[in-house]
Amino acid sequence: MEYEVVIGLEVHIQLQTKTKLFCSCPAEFGEKPNTNICPVCLGFPGVLPVLNDNAVKLALKAALALNCQIQNVSTFARKHYFYPDLPKGYQITQYERPLAVNGFLEIKNKKIRIRRLHLEEDAGKLIHTPNFTLIDFNRCGIPLIEVVTEPDLSNAEETVEFLSELRSILRYLNVSSGDMEKGHLRCEPNISLKVNGVWGKRREIKNLNSLKSVRDALNYEFITQKKILEAGRKIEQETLLWDEMEKVTKPMRSKEEAEDYRYFPEPDLPPLVIKEEEVWEMKKGLPELPAEKRKRFVANYHLSEKEAEILVREREMADYFEEVIVAGKDSSPPFFRLAASWLINEVARVINERNITVNQFEISPQDLAQLLILLREGRITQRVAKDVFFRMVRERKKAQEIIKEEGLEKAEDLSQLELVVKEVLRENPDVVASYKRGKETVLMFLLGQVMKKTRGRFPPEKIREKILENIR
Ligand SMILES: [Zn+2]
Repeated sequence: MEYEVVIGLEVHIQLQTKTKLFCSCPAEFGEKPNTNICPVCLGFPGVLPVLNDNAVKLALKAALALNCQIQNVSTFARKHYFYPDLPKGYQITQYERPLAVNGFLEIKNKKIRIRRLHLEEDAGKLIHTPNFTLIDFNRCGIPLIEVVTEPDLSNAEETVEFLSELRSILRYLNVSSGDMEKGHLRCEPNISLKVNGVWGKRREIKNLNSLKSVRDALNYEFITQKKILEAGRKIEQETLLWDEMEKVTKPMRSKEEAEDYRYFPEPDLPPLVIKEEEVWEMKKGLPELPAEKRKRFVANYHLSEKEAEILVREREMADYFEEVIVAGKDSSPPFFRLAASWLINEVARVINERNITVNQFEISPQDLAQLLILLREGRITQRVAKDVFFRMVRERKKAQEIIKEEGLEKAEDLSQLELVVKEVLRENPDVVASYKRGKETVLMFLLGQVMKKTRGRFPPEKIREKILENIR
C-alpha cells in the first residue's frame, strides 16, 4: 500500500501586548495567580469588552508577513463550552469572518497555504495537584492569534521547519516571543494518511509545547495509523494527547473534548473594520523578513545557504553580523566569510553555553571587527585570535590592548623560532628518534610544544617548516 502523510496545523500565538485583548489588565507572564484579572476578563454580568488596538495591529503584521488577504470587515463570535478554566462559559474569537485568509508561508521552496488567521482570547489555566485542582485566571483574555494551515505538510521534519520559520518571522516583527516553553506558541497538528490516494480520517494532537514533541508525536502517530490500517482496522476521527513521559499519543477523555461549540455572534463588539490605507502603511513598514534576508546574505556576502540560515534565524544575530561587516571596512568575500564563521562558531558557542542573546554578549560588533581585522591582516595567528577572543569575553578588554600587553603580535623573527625549535628537539630525543624511524605523526606533538613556547605567535606552517629543516 502507498501511504502519504497529510498534516495540517492550528497554531496559537500569544501577542506581545501590554494589556489583554478586551480589558486593561496586564498581559504579563509569571505573575501571582489571579492577580491580573478584572470583571471584564472574568465575564461578570454587565461588563463590556473593548478591543485592544495594539493586538489588532500585531495580528495584521503577522497576517501580512504570512501573505494573507486582510478582510476589510471581520467579526467576533462567542464560542461556548463549559470547562473550569473558562469563567465566562464562552471564549471570544473570530469565526465566520476572520481577520485574514488565504496566505502562505514558504519553506525550502514549498508553499504551505494558510487558510485563515484570526484573533481570539486565551482561557485560564488549571493546576492539578494530587488532591485538588487550582485555577489561575491570569491568562483569561490574553490576546492570541490562531493560524490555520491547509493540510500541505508531508512529514514531521517539514512541520518543524514550518514552525521554526513561523517563529522566526513572529520574532522579527515583535509580534510574539514565540516561546513554546512559556506557551506563547502552541501547536495542534492533525495528521491523516492517504492510502492509494484516498483520504483517511484525521487525528488531532493537543498540547504540544516544543518542536521536539511535535516531531516525536507526528512520527509516532504516523506509525500508529499505519499499523491500524495494516491490521485491517479503520481510523476514527479523534483528539489525542501527547504523553511526553511515555512518548505515546493517548485519546483525550471525552469530557475534555467539546466538539459542539455553539457559536453566536458577539453582541458587545462591533464588526472590526480595517481601512485599506492602514494595511498599505503597515505593509510599507514591515522589516526585511528572514526569507528575504537569507537570500540577500547569500547574494551579497557570498555565504552558503546553511551559514545564512544560522545567521538570519534571530534578527539580533543578523544585525550583529552586518555591524561587524560595516565596522570591518573590508568588503571582500573572504572577510564576510571570516566574520560569518566567527559568529557561527565562536560567538554562537559562547552565547548558547551561557543562554544569553547576542545583545547581552560582552564583545561589541565593532570590537570583534577589530580582532578579525588583525587576523585578516596576518598580524596575529588564528590560535592567538582565539585566545584573545576568550580574554575579551572574560576581561572585557579590546583586542589591541590584550595583544599589546602580552606581546602577541605575530612574530616575524625566524631566527628566534629556530632557537625554540632546536630547544624542543633537544628536549625530546625519544620523539625525534621515533620520527626518524618513520612515525611521522609525532610531528604534531613537536609542533604543539613549539606553539606553546612561542604562545601561538608563529603560524603553524612556518613552525612545521622549521622543524623539518632541523630534524634531519
Ligand atoms: Zn481584565
